[in-house]
Amino acid sequence: MTIPVYTGGCQCGATRFRITGQVKGSSICHCRMCQKAFGAFYAPLIDIGEAKLAWTRGEPKHFQSSNHVKRGFCPGCGTPLTYEAAEGVAIATGAFDDPSGLPPTIQYGTEGKLGFVDRLHELPKRHTTDDIEAAPFLAEIVSYQHPDHDTETWPEGDKP
Ligand SMILES: [Zn+2]
Ligand SMILES: [Zn+2]
Repeated sequence: MTIPVYTGGCQCGATRFRITGQVKGSSICHCRMCQKAFGAFYAPLIDIGEAKLAWTRGEPKHFQSSNHVKRGFCPGCGTPLTYEAAEGVAIATGAFDDPSGLPPTIQYGTEGKLGFVDRLHELPKRHTTDDIEAAPFLAEIVSYQHPDHDTETWPEGDKP
């Protein structure tokens, strides 16, 4: 049996991780602290369980958000990366290079759930380039985001 390996990192590429072994679970947390830490309606998190976490480039800075939990983020770009407690570590799902294979199976912190979250799928839908006339810069946009795979060196190329 092959041991699963997951890679990921922050938006700027200064902080990268590798998880070796089967992760334990995928969840979203609606609690107010997760909303704040992620700047989002809820936090998507992967409980890594007994899998092994290694920081392969850089490492997160931490904010002690309570007496039991600290939260890691990239010191270069601020991407939320970890939820760390005595009982284990969880990694932000969106930071994985391929979050598509890690669908959440439970919701936590529902006392903090924002009412409109249940209706998000009903909102009108637009592709990024649907409004190209209103935002012509999109046609020539250059991403400085780290690609969704490990890289030998970073930064690479000529970015400012
Ligand atoms: Zn970063
Ligand atoms: Zn939470």
